Amino acid sequence: MKTPVSRRVRDLVYETFASEGRAPSVAELARRTQSTVDAIQKVLNDLAEAHALVLTPDGDAVRMAHPFTSAPMAFVVTPLDGHDDRRWWGGCAWDSFGISAALHLDVRIDTACPQCGAPISFQTGPQLPPPAGLAVRFPRPAEEWWADVVGTCTMIRAFCDRAHAEQWTTDNVPGTGYIAEATAVWRLAGPWYGDRLDPEFQPHSREHNQGLLDECGLTGPFWQLP
Ligand SMILES: [Zn+2]
Ligand SMILES: [Zn+2]
Repeated sequence: MKTPVSRRVRDLVYETFASEGRAPSVAELARRTQSTVDAIQKVLNDLAEAHALVLTPDGDAVRMAHPFTSAPMAFVVTPLDGHDDRRWWGGCAWDSFGISAALHLDVRIDTACPQCGAPISFQTGPQLPPPAGLAVRFPRPAEEWWADVVGTCTMIRAFCDRAHAEQWTTDNVPGTGYIAEATAVWRLAGPWYGDRLDPEFQPHSREHNQGLLDECGLTGPFWQLP
């Protein structure tokens, strides 16, 4: 059976992010699928509508294909293998673990604590959890994530510890968000993102993803997917 162009476009976006750390342009996608710019633009619109990727505000370029992002955000993901000179921007703490999971790769994640500004740098991988004590704060409930998905990712940050995440919340947006252990977010990222680059990847159902959240102890109204 011939692969539909939307699937080829989606796969090319992911392959280019994985191998080059960037999103392919519309013209590039048109050339590589022997299609037209107009047809590709329509495919991208449909993929964005289905939440398979995120376009820029003008809609003419790929901004994110989770866990990848085409623009600098708060996390840098570096392979531990010094001969592998790829680098990726991590859209958020969860996505940074997701890049490691999707690529089946041990990495170093670099970011900074929003509360104290201290650099945070640690090694992690599919079998290597992040340091105990590290905290990840989610800014808004799951049902609101996609209303502003870039904004949501921007605010899913890693903090030195729970105390810094709590202090930052009190000082900036009291009473909001959810503070999780980074190890729980790492455990979630494995099955959530681990199959993203598989040739046979199929989008997860809502029920499947809700089950993954449950298994990591992320339960209750805050974690109820829409
Ligand atoms: Zn801190
Ligand atoms: Zn994210």
